[in-house]
Amino acid sequence: MLKTEILYFDSVLDAARSAREGYPSALWVLDTNTQPLFSSYFDTNDSPRVVLEPGEAAKNEHSVAAILKAAKDAGLGRDSVIIAAGGGVVCDLSAFAASVYMRGCGAVLIPTTLLSMCDASYGGKTGFDWLGVKNFIGTFYPADKVVICSEFVRTLPEKEFRNGMGEVLKHSMLASDDTLSVFLSENRKAIGERISAVTGEMIRRSLAVKKEYVDADPTETTGLRRALNLGHTFGHALESLGGLGSRSHGESVAWGCAMALKAGLAAGVTDPDFAVSELSLLASYGYETKGAVDEKDFEAYWSYVLGDKKKKGGQIQFALLEKRGRPVFMPLDKEIVRASVVKH
Ligand code: ADP
Ligand code: ZN
Repeated sequence: MLKTEILYFDSVLDAARSAREGYPSALWVLDTNTQPLFSSYFDTNDSPRVVLEPGEAAKNEHSVAAILKAAKDAGLGRDSVIIAAGGGVVCDLSAFAASVYMRGCGAVLIPTTLLSMCDASYGGKTGFDWLGVKNFIGTFYPADKVVICSEFVRTLPEKEFRNGMGEVLKHSMLASDDTLSVFLSENRKAIGERISAVTGEMIRRSLAVKKEYVDADPTETTGLRRALNLGHTFGHALESLGGLGSRSHGESVAWGCAMALKAGLAAGVTDPDFAVSELSLLASYGYETKGAVDEKDFEAYWSYVLGDKKKKGGQIQFALLEKRGRPVFMPLDKEIVRASVVKH
């Protein structure tokens, strides 16, 4: 079990106040897109804050140094808090800074993208990109609190929304029962319209699945947490190949989940009824479930698969599913992978 407390609020103001509660002083970290979302809070107080440029390019040592310097300038102590108010980039950077500031001060996250709400915010991973490698430097430092407010989903660009939905669909396959999956199929329209009460419920259920796997294997030692990589080996290789156009990580992961179902079927591992229902749920949300790699690119695709870090004894262990909530890890025959991922 991580020490992280997960709190839910309907209003941004309540979320911000609750994040700040219980600490003698605080430094806020935002980006230029998320700062305006907190105007109801900042209009009434002038807490010290750092506002970063948005996006992955800011996930570097300079941003970390800027946060640490601002924390020092604001006189933060070990019992103070660094509050992240933004997407995965802001959350990972802020939690990293909190983990090293005076050997560790408080960290509170208010994730504002669907991806960071449903996935990245819970689990204790912090860090930044270095020398061209994503998340090369990082620590394991669970936040004191993760504060969720589904209002933030409403302002997300469509691309960011779909980015998060890919991981939500992944969680529905990893869940121990079908409540999230049924919720997703019954509420597709309201989810698409981002009705806050509905997206709020979806986030709660998705985060509960993530929590189940993280809490069962908090420091990634028993291997259970690896199940959260479902769809990622297939998806990352496609991202490396530059396939699926400019689609996001979540879209690649959704496609990768479809490939894991298909390959699992071909390998005789995955329950056919389960595979059919999940493939149709993925398709109903507009995700690609068919082969997406040109035959001529398959060797390159396969070499990216082999470069994946989830190796054991030289073989790639694919995360597959026997059925809902029953992950298995196994090597796959190259021809099974080819038959699943290549365009027909
Ligand atoms: P993630 O890793 O969670 O996808 P990023 O931190 O890279 O997140 O954020 C993706 C983009 O979305 C950034 O440009 C960020 O400023 C923007 N963003 C984050 N939250 C919101 C929001 N609630 N509304 C609009 N844009 C947002
Ligand atoms: Zn992912």
